[in-house]
Amino acid sequence: MRVVVTGTPGTGKTTAVEHLDLDQFDTDFEVIHLNDVIRERNFTTGRDEDRDSLVADLDAVAEWLDGHGDAIVESHLAHEFDADRVVVLRCTPEEIERRLNERGESAGSARENAESEALDVVLGHAVQNHGEERVYEIETTDRTPEEVAAEIEAVIAGDREPSAGTVDYMEYL
Ligand code: ADP
Repeated sequence: MRVVVTGTPGTGKTTAVEHLDLDQFDTDFEVIHLNDVIRERNFTTGRDEDRDSLVADLDAVAEWLDGHGDAIVESHLAHEFDADRVVVLRCTPEEIERRLNERGESAGSARENAESEALDVVLGHAVQNHGEERVYEIETTDRTPEEVAAEIEAVIAGDREPSAGTVDYMEYL
């Protein structure tokens, strides 16, 4: 089984996945931090000069992922790949901007990601690629990483119903 954890940068994917207790499952899941894999293996097609970031080679990443078995795959690109379940972490745009500024990102990048979150960009792509029946939206704003991890564990265990479109941050625009 492949569970992908996606969401706008700053929603807390890396942190939440690090708090998962995977020993409770019979399946031996590998945790994959996909952005690290893309960087380390140079799965890139070039550079986006406007955003000062690398452009991922999605075909190369997909092929690499297919060589792996049961996995929890975390990245803001994770919804671009095949998955049995798609977790979309959500966070208010204000809090995303605060977290990204605190993490030392440029003000422009923090603002751009906050606006993207307000527009449901990642959720929209996740539903488009996988259908609502595979998507699980999780609100993280006032939750600890442990609480978010527990929600993801419930998705992995099959204890949660799919949910998409339950979060609305349009008022922040
Ligand atoms: P992502 O992987 O989605 O970009 P990170 O896990 O790197 O997000 O978290 C972004 C920032 O927000 C980090 O500085 C992290 O410490 C902080 N953070 C992550 N999860 C939470 C949370 N549940 N509550 C408050 N701060 C958080």
